[in-house]
Amino acid sequence: MFKLNIVDTFNKVLPADPNVENSPRQVEEACFSYVKPLVPSNPELVHASAEMAKLIGLTEEDTKTADFVNAFSGAHVLTDTKPYAMCYGGHQFGHWAGQLGDGRAINLMEVLHEDKPWALQLKGAGPTPYSRTADGLAVLRSSVREHLCSEAMHHLGVPSTRSLSLMLTGDMVMRDMMYDGNPALEKGAVVCRAAPSFIRFGNFQMFASRNDVPNLKKLTDYTIKHFFPAIKKEGPDAYYAFFEEVVTNTMVMLIEWQRVGFVHGVMNTDNMSILGLTIDYGPYGWLEPYDKGWTPNTTDRQHKRYRYGNQPSVGLWNLYQLANALALLVEDPKPLEAALERFKVQFAYGYTKMMSLKLGLDTQANADLILIKSLEDNLSMAETDMTIFFRLLSNVEKTDPSANAFSRMADAFYDIEALNETELQKWIQWFTAYVARLQVEQATDYERKIKMNMYNPKYVLRNYMAQLAIDDANKGDYGLINTFYEMLKKPYHEQAEYEKWFAKRPEWARSKVGCSMLSCSS
Ligand code: AMP
Ligand code: MG
Repeated sequence: MFKLNIVDTFNKVLPADPNVENSPRQVEEACFSYVKPLVPSNPELVHASAEMAKLIGLTEEDTKTADFVNAFSGAHVLTDTKPYAMCYGGHQFGHWAGQLGDGRAINLMEVLHEDKPWALQLKGAGPTPYSRTADGLAVLRSSVREHLCSEAMHHLGVPSTRSLSLMLTGDMVMRDMMYDGNPALEKGAVVCRAAPSFIRFGNFQMFASRNDVPNLKKLTDYTIKHFFPAIKKEGPDAYYAFFEEVVTNTMVMLIEWQRVGFVHGVMNTDNMSILGLTIDYGPYGWLEPYDKGWTPNTTDRQHKRYRYGNQPSVGLWNLYQLANALALLVEDPKPLEAALERFKVQFAYGYTKMMSLKLGLDTQANADLILIKSLEDNLSMAETDMTIFFRLLSNVEKTDPSANAFSRMADAFYDIEALNETELQKWIQWFTAYVARLQVEQATDYERKIKMNMYNPKYVLRNYMAQLAIDDANKGDYGLINTFYEMLKKPYHEQAEYEKWFAKRPEWARSKVGCSMLSCSS
């Protein structure tokens, strides 16, 4: 049997729900409820992240054992652990939804390895007191997406929760995938997620909404002590410093999403990590054609609240909700307001810096703002693949005539013929300005190319790729899951053997369910 250095804190320090029955209910004055995972009928490992295993002190060999399958499918609760589901609330699509909580997440334990804490959490291991009317289960489709994408995001350098393992439960789960009255049985699965903590904005909001200041304080003090150790202040000053750090971390995450073209899809406040990690991979998607108005989430089709271009302002809106909750802990809310005001300035600065780096610019010039804005406009004119465009951009040379520079981008366009004369002119104008701008930079073409290619990924988990992996996995073939996991460990490297995945979305995927349209059903 493998050994883990189990050091639980959340369920030791914070108030527990005294009711240990597993039935749906409102839970007050408690941070969590004890609950045991459902025992799956025939658990089977689909894939384990050897990297993540190492981070908690396990070897790759350990992940191949029956003990591993039993522990991380929910079949066997390790001795000295007391699994639980967290209580939190949230704003869903702009409206306060009251208590939500871990409806299908069960925290197994916290592990301390090489001085780093890791909370391990099963997703899809059965109902909890927070499941409301749902079943607490997850299907293979959404679990493949969560497992692959959380690891891929980490390797892209985007703050994210991680995934240790993906297992089949051996049980079937009923889902109406497009909510159109066509329920069908799908294979059930469990993912084991890992993060220093899974606390969300909604954990704080829950106590605030009930005006439960003593427990709000306990939760905030706990969070600061364990996850923001650099904050040495006490009382209100500690809360102000805490909020400032959350604002900064959230902002960094949002800029990173915009950098790689990731669209979360459901930025409700219950899906916002207090550590600024990407959390809850549901109907997320990757920009293929650059389009600020795009969202993969069909549930959000009407208002597109969570579209790519709106993520930063929704992030700020969510931070306002967190500030409202923390305001109960301080007499003077002004420092909280000041942090929110600073977000606007710092985000604008950070976004421009990020876009400049995508363009390979080390220095800053006033006209760069115009260069960036006109690039965004141009990218939106005709379907232009974001990932391919920025990757190819590193091939542009300082001596390129603008038409030449533009022609290097040909493969990024879904239908280059669709560009009319005026649009072509806009591109030529843009490349004239860009090449002139490059000439001001010190770096050689070669140096800039190397640097840009470490910032603009070659491989991302395109929506259709995840769907191909899912289609095969449903037939019992896990080859593509392995391929994508390996490939996405080095998203910035050329990796000639994976060249075929450096390609635009195929036409068949344009309107296929799972590729461009995803519901919240999972
Ligand atoms: P989401 O927006 O998908 O992260 O989920 C919103 C809320 O619904 C959370 O409280 C989830 O735990 C809960 N939830 C989602 N799916 C299920 C499910 N199949 N069973 C129980 N609870 C669920
Ligand atoms: Mg959620």
